[in-house]
Amino acid sequence: METLGLIGGMSWHSTATYYRIINEIVAAARGGHASARITLESLDFEEIRQCQIRGDWASAAALLTEAGQRCVRSGATTVAICTNLMHKVAPEVEAGIDVPLAHIADAVAAEAARNGWRTLGILGTRWVMEEDFYAGRLARHGIDSVIPDEADREMSDTIIFDELTKGIVQVASRSAYIDTIQRLADQGADAVVLACTEIGLLIQPHDVPVPLVDSVEVHARELGRLALGTVAATRW
Ligand code: GLU
Repeated sequence: METLGLIGGMSWHSTATYYRIINEIVAAARGGHASARITLESLDFEEIRQCQIRGDWASAAALLTEAGQRCVRSGATTVAICTNLMHKVAPEVEAGIDVPLAHIADAVAAEAARNGWRTLGILGTRWVMEEDFYAGRLARHGIDSVIPDEADREMSDTIIFDELTKGIVQVASRSAYIDTIQRLADQGADAVVLACTEIGLLIQPHDVPVPLVDSVEVHARELGRLALGTVAATRW
């Protein structure tokens, strides 16, 4: 079995989901008491959040890169960043470690391709929706994307940081997300990617008539396969 290095804690609510899904995949495949070999670097999210607010992405990149390096020193043969947003600094992390980084958007794109979805609506934090590091990565796989309008982007970013990353789930926020997902489908999205690892705490596939790709689920399942060694990490 391979050892996975997880850079988590952003937030810990979704890192717990990663831990559960990866272990479920390994247990199902191996049986008995099999569980995944994982080295987890769980960062203090407050420190990362302050970097985001200041726009200090260099410091955030350094914190994540050092965490990735500690994973590698502990034996990790693949490293993953357990958040969509912090893939903004994925190039720096990737350059600072000598093992592959399993990029979350590659897992999302693979799921879209498997289902024949050509255009994804992106729902997440402001940077994930507005900048190119996420949509551009999907485009490398031939997946187009659409994003919510300004008011819906503001709503999504606010709900993520005021509620979901603190583990708060509210009915009113669920309704707001459901409306936004429908508007993304109206804009031409074949499916909507929950491109924030906490949105799945609020929205489940049965809540909406539009197909969803939950980024934490597809990323964690891919990591489970990497842990088992049934797939090899690819550098894109
Ligand atoms: N977990 C969230 C994401 O997947 C946002 C938290 C963060 O990384 O700042 O984008």
